[in-house]
Amino acid sequence: MTDLDRMRHPAEALDIVLSHARPLSLESVSLDRCAGRVLGTDVTAPEDHPPFPASTMDGFAVNADDVSPWREIVGVQNAGPVLDLEVTPGMAVRIMTGAPLPPGANAVVRIENTELADDHVIIHQENITPGENIRPVGSDIVAGSTVLSAGTGIGPSEIGLLASLGIDPVTVYRRPSVAVISTGDELVEPNQSLAPGMIRDSNRFSLLAALEPLHMQIVWAGKGPDQRDLLESLLRERIADCDVVLTTGGVSMGDLDLIKAILTDLAEVHFRRVFMKPGKPLNFATAGSTLLFGLPGNPVSALVGFELFVRPALRKMGGYRQAERPRILVHLLHDVEPTDRIDHQRACIAQNGAGELVASTTGAQGSSRLASFTGSNGLVILPPRETPYIAGERVEAVLLGDLVRSE
Ligand code: AMP
Ligand code: MG
Repeated sequence: MTDLDRMRHPAEALDIVLSHARPLSLESVSLDRCAGRVLGTDVTAPEDHPPFPASTMDGFAVNADDVSPWREIVGVQNAGPVLDLEVTPGMAVRIMTGAPLPPGANAVVRIENTELADDHVIIHQENITPGENIRPVGSDIVAGSTVLSAGTGIGPSEIGLLASLGIDPVTVYRRPSVAVISTGDELVEPNQSLAPGMIRDSNRFSLLAALEPLHMQIVWAGKGPDQRDLLESLLRERIADCDVVLTTGGVSMGDLDLIKAILTDLAEVHFRRVFMKPGKPLNFATAGSTLLFGLPGNPVSALVGFELFVRPALRKMGGYRQAERPRILVHLLHDVEPTDRIDHQRACIAQNGAGELVASTTGAQGSSRLASFTGSNGLVILPPRETPYIAGERVEAVLLGDLVRSE
């Protein structure tokens, strides 16, 4: 057995993958196209926010030191351009939420504490504190402060922050370009009927769906034949135009397991097998700056391999500070038989009435049984051992979806 065929512990395999996954270059992208991208630089606020003292209430702008029981209303300041209004003793300005505070005012009395009498307002509030109901300049963000750091994913609130500070375009990491290739002469398209011996390609669609929330650039997705020359030239082309090439199938011990052979010719192979279940035959190679993952053909193995190795690599290349999902501890709800490798059983992870995280696995865990993912939102990780895992025991898990609530 060569060192390449040595079964790697999943943690060692991930270390190898991540050591080859380097953040891509930066590019400038207009703000309205930045959702789902990753910030390439720290963002420093170019100005204070709010840029002027603003009312947080609908009410009257007054001077807190003025004790007049009623005041003359000299005008209305809406949110918008500053009007030529001033609060002098005995005067008040009607003011709306978000409107700039007029000169001479140092507090806003909320409308509920006032009463209108013709062109006057009567204040029904015993004490007015200077600064009351006012958002001072820079109270949300001080000019010069770091508001977002490089490696942060840009979601709704980050977009909002960038917009409010006038940062457009935005410096982000380039998105990894990815190809997805299903290999196997048995594969037909999902909308085709099945001749004897054929199956429908599901891996390509599963992987594309798994890639979707990562906002990658899909350069090519299709099927590759079990023919050495054709498959090799397809891989050559994809290596030339992609940062990451994903294949499924063709990596176990059969005669037609061509991916293994082609990767050996076209790329530098780093490992071929991982000490895990499902998905032991997982090839990882690099060709120049392109990463190649030869995922197993069995649909469950392909998806688990994607989660454990491909996703962290893509996130790291895409600039995310945190590439991996955190590991959590969950209580098993039932006994589970260990296997001879580190098992990654599909499970439903829930928070029970006592606030504890509990997990139940999802029936038969065969590597071809995609239905074992149905109803699951995570993987429980069960290393091999002599004795069964027992109900109530605490084990490691990764949450892949939304946490469920149970009683
Ligand atoms: P292989 O790794 O090519 O030997 O494939 C292992 C098993 O996975 C075989 O039963 C294949 O038919 C199945 N398989 C391979 N590729 C796919 C695919 N794209 N979609 C669904 N099943 C597949
Ligand atoms: Mg095959």
